[in-house]
Amino acid sequence: MKLRKLTALTLALLLLSGCGAAGASGRDTEAGMSEPVLEESAPVEAPESPTLAPESPASEEAEPSSSAPAEETEEITVEITVEEFPEDLAEDDALAPEDAEEPAFVLEMLEEPREMVTTTDVNLRGEPSTEGAVLRTLPRRTTVEVTARSGDWSAVTVDRETGYIYSSYLAEPGETNGYLIAIDAGHQRRGNSDKEPVGPGSSDLKAKVTSGTSGVVSGWDEYELNLVLALKLQEELEDRGYEVIMTRTTHDVDLSNAQRAAVANDAGADAFVRIHADGSDDSSAHGAMTICQTSASPYNAALHDESYALSVAVLDALVAETGCNRRGVWETDTMSGINWCTVPVTIVEVGFMSNPAEDALLATEDYQDLVVRGIANGIDDYLQR
Ligand SMILES: [Zn+2]
Repeated sequence: MKLRKLTALTLALLLLSGCGAAGASGRDTEAGMSEPVLEESAPVEAPESPTLAPESPASEEAEPSSSAPAEETEEITVEITVEEFPEDLAEDDALAPEDAEEPAFVLEMLEEPREMVTTTDVNLRGEPSTEGAVLRTLPRRTTVEVTARSGDWSAVTVDRETGYIYSSYLAEPGETNGYLIAIDAGHQRRGNSDKEPVGPGSSDLKAKVTSGTSGVVSGWDEYELNLVLALKLQEELEDRGYEVIMTRTTHDVDLSNAQRAAVANDAGADAFVRIHADGSDDSSAHGAMTICQTSASPYNAALHDESYALSVAVLDALVAETGCNRRGVWETDTMSGINWCTVPVTIVEVGFMSNPAEDALLATEDYQDLVVRGIANGIDDYLQR
């Protein structure tokens, strides 16, 4: 059994390396398993023993739910019986009669290799099955070359290694993952002190949009930092396959907080992420916080659990990525831009622009990238929990 599967894999690899259907005959196997006849440009190696590879503790392929997209394919059936192989390859129990009649998997070769991207941490396996040995685990966003399909599995080459990935975990570069995220870069060049209700049906009025804080070292206004981070977050999320809608992409807008919420609501966003930075009279105050409504909100209490989960996930991931002080999730019903939401929402206060050290950090591209990756990781975590 062990030997048969390994041999089938070896032949599959030969096919992938461009040997064509004729290569699937017994001829190639005469070279012996340790010396497969491969094209010079295909340094593919079968694993020494698939059964020795550790099982992944977190198999990503446990729940196949969709099939690979239709392709222009050339179908090649790799049908191998053990009798085709030289006796010296046989190992005691490897050639049980029932195994000899088990058909090998079918490979559908793509006309041309296609670049695709892993959408999550995913196992590269030695066979197109969760039974296949885990060759290694590829991180999310790994670019692979897809050369063939086998059922719901894709044969891929990555870093000169070939194996199989469950096709649901591959996406076209830039392809949407089905989630829509709305991003609001807090504030704008000029605040608008006209009033609007703090929430639907409320007689409490609040300024439509305030002017925000400013950096004690960077000299940046908050609306500038917020937009820099929001645009980076847009790019990061789109790279991960998200659809993104922005409330603003320039400073010269006049958007109230209720109007910003309406952008997310009207789009039916899966999450609304509002980027802000903090300011305090206490220059020692530092760290990040996220904000959502209370579970007793008179406006949208039904969204509390989702918003809270989003807030926790984003804050945890942000802190993990940046190492900044974790100030916790603030549940409050005083934020118009939360109260008007009909979708899960969080405000991310990324740090204090009134703290010299944190303000200086926030003005650096390196730290901004950490902040953005943290927020994006949190969104991933929230949607995949
Ligand atoms: Zn703000």
